[in-house]
Amino acid sequence: MPLRNWSENVQFSSAPIHAPETTEEVQEIVRASRKVSVLGARHSFNDVAAIDAQVEDATARPGKAEDSSWAYISLEKLHAPIEFDSSRGTVTCNAGITYGELCQQMHEEGAALHNMASLPHVTVAGACATGTHGSGDGNGNLATAVVGLELVTADGGLRTLSRGEDGDAFEGAVVALGGLGVVTRITLATEPAYTMQQYVYENLPAAALYEHFDEVMSSAYSVSLFPDWQDGMVNQVWLKHRTGPSDGTACIGAGSMAREATPQTGPGGEELFGATAGRAELNHVANLPPDGVTPQLGVRGPWHERLPHFRADSEPASVVELESEYFVPRAHAVPALKAVEGLRDLLEPVLLISEVRSIAADRLWLSQSYGTPTLGIHFSWKMDWEGVHRVMPEVEEALSPYGVRPHWGKLFTLPAAQVQAAYPKMDDFRKLLEAYDPGGKFRNGFLDRYIFG
Ligand SMILES: Cc1cc2nc3c(=O)[nH]c(=O)nc-3n(C[C@H](O)[C@H](O)[C@H](O)COP(=O)(O)OP(=O)(O)OC[C@H]3O[C@@H](n4cnc5c(N)ncnc54)[C@H](O)[C@@H]3O)c2cc1C
Repeated sequence: MPLRNWSENVQFSSAPIHAPETTEEVQEIVRASRKVSVLGARHSFNDVAAIDAQVEDATARPGKAEDSSWAYISLEKLHAPIEFDSSRGTVTCNAGITYGELCQQMHEEGAALHNMASLPHVTVAGACATGTHGSGDGNGNLATAVVGLELVTADGGLRTLSRGEDGDAFEGAVVALGGLGVVTRITLATEPAYTMQQYVYENLPAAALYEHFDEVMSSAYSVSLFPDWQDGMVNQVWLKHRTGPSDGTACIGAGSMAREATPQTGPGGEELFGATAGRAELNHVANLPPDGVTPQLGVRGPWHERLPHFRADSEPASVVELESEYFVPRAHAVPALKAVEGLRDLLEPVLLISEVRSIAADRLWLSQSYGTPTLGIHFSWKMDWEGVHRVMPEVEEALSPYGVRPHWGKLFTLPAAQVQAAYPKMDDFRKLLEAYDPGGKFRNGFLDRYIFG
């Protein structure tokens, strides 16, 4: 079977897939190959992880002829212990570990991350490479937790980079779209483990959201809005509150116990700006059962079982979907949301649900939140390739007045020049890629189009 991504719309060109067990093996593979791409969990919706690819609907198309001088590298089997440094407050791990696996072990050690994405199935290196994020006015994206990297570069050499010692170049190397080399080990900043409670509210009037936007988005540690843009309502609001240090007691993990728990009222009470508290657990996609989502109804539990929307032990969605996401500076949040709402008739046939999240500003060159706090406006699309391609340019045009930046790991059709212009450090990033990889071993079609195109 040809190699595909999670949503099966990207068919990677065939090339051997290596699963090295040691860093030395990674170095040998890189030295011996003409083109290399590192595979994370293949959860990106475009060809960012492919050496070369057909980006299409799920209909099989013939792969390109195998080129044995090309190599895909998966770090699934890399032996690299998880090391905690309590004095520095860091954890160092195999960069190819999934958040699900890492966070479980972190929690057992009494450590936590500041945030997680909607699902824990993605790898740490893969998520950080594309600027993957969760939500929260005070929370930077996941890459902002990175304080150190170990990297196999194009000549097979091993380099380490740290936030403390490599200054500016480090800010360019964290969200790097796989272009600098193979990140083999990654060091993340930790904090003491904490507990959380999650509440879901239904039917927030859009007018109330626009009037009280900052209050709504700051009403919890992490706030996600789920609008389908119809009927002047935000379908659901998910609030994730931090409730204190984790003492290992009175926590109910992901599982059926939460579903049977008596609903508690959130700190906002029965009502949140006109939205009403959910009385049962809910899936954010209408008509889907809540199986697989993290516990709601205010049941207290560990941070890593509340920050994501999906449980680590379940499949992230029971429908196949495509995804796009666009970021606008927080200052333009309300006009940008109104612009998307204005497309409701176009969106209705192809959209499953949207999600709106806030992300704090950072200094990572290719982060979508570089230099400004942002609002991420996400679209979970039906698996309708043509429909999605009809609607994406309309959404992009509506958001273009606001300096839109697309998610590097999701679908978009914005022209390369517009994407590049949205990143003040794009020239510096290009130079960094050229310095690390002068022969273009890690350059793929995606980098050629959007960084060098
Ligand atoms: C159901 C679903 C939910 C999602 N939810 C969110 C969300 O909540 N927030 C969000 O922002 N995004 C979300 N995404 C998008 C996803 O987080 C990104 O696409 C992420 O990059 C996927 O990580 P991955 O491990 O699958 O990496 P891949 O898609 O396999 O790779 C992504 C990039 O990382 C590079 N890479 C991977 N490993 C390494 C390494 N060791 N060294 C160097 N480069 C490497 C690859 O070469 C590629 O360029 C979601 C995706 C899905 C399918």
